[in-house]
Amino acid sequence: SLPRQTWELDHENIEIVRKLGEGAFGEVMMGKLKFRKGGKTVNVAIKQAKLSNLTKDQIKEFMGEARVMRQFNHPHVVRFYGVAATTEPLYMVMELASNGALDSYLKKNPDLSLDKKNEMILQAAWGLEYLHGKPVIHRDIAARNCLYGDNRVKISDFGLTRHGVSYQADPNKKAPIRWLATEVIRQRVFSLKTDVWAYAVMSWEIYNNGVEPYPGMMVAEVAQRVISGYRMDLPVDLHPEIKNLIGKCWAENEHERPSMADVASELQRITLIQRPDFAS
Ligand code: ATP
Repeated sequence: SLPRQTWELDHENIEIVRKLGEGAFGEVMMGKLKFRKGGKTVNVAIKQAKLSNLTKDQIKEFMGEARVMRQFNHPHVVRFYGVAATTEPLYMVMELASNGALDSYLKKNPDLSLDKKNEMILQAAWGLEYLHGKPVIHRDIAARNCLYGDNRVKISDFGLTRHGVSYQADPNKKAPIRWLATEVIRQRVFSLKTDVWAYAVMSWEIYNNGVEPYPGMMVAEVAQRVISGYRMDLPVDLHPEIKNLIGKCWAENEHERPSMADVASELQRITLIQRPDFAS
């Protein structure tokens, strides 16, 4: 297997096959990673980055993402294989999620059952519970930042992730308003509980087949209305206890929001889906 103590990969062991999508740093490719000379090969996703094309902040984000990801090992968090950094373009190599980004998967598959969607939000809860146990704040939980493959939601996109339980971001930096808790809109203070809020918005996205949250509203209106107490409707046929649970996740008072461990155990109780043994 991989030399686990180092995350350095060689370009010569990585074969690019085709383009998967466009990322913030450059193209994201599907490819193959050969573990050792003559060793076995796995299909992977590869984020490419040409440092000369990136801003200082982007380089920081790319390197930060690799540093953060290598500490994770969970079936609902996208797996990291390593970085090839001896020549340009840099390759960040990770697990291939066969169905791609979660938002586009939801748009392409609008007929998923409510049970399936309940399972998806539970899987995301397991992944986020794991991250919060580190603890890290993801800071950009949204359907576009999760992947779907092998019937599993996988949390991805760790460019903004920070260690710890709270983080004061630059109030002048742009932020994805539709996913933000009121204290982030007001003061850019992120915490585990602001991830819980974003998780509630993502659950809404899952139940609404990947539609952009607060449809028909401009971001300025979203900010103003959410601060005044407005919340989006969840599907009428959603289990009332799940509706109630999501409602608590976007409570104005962060102390009223449950932890992700509480969300996961509540969802397990309501859906009767057992937590698989993640140990193996
Ligand atoms: P942004 O910040 O704009 O979202 P990014 O650099 O974080 O960009 P991603 O969104 O992660 O890039 O990747 C771009 C696209 O590539 C995704 O929308 C998805 O379609 C595809 N993709 C990324 N990672 C994977 C993966 N591990 N497996 C399958 N497809 C992937």
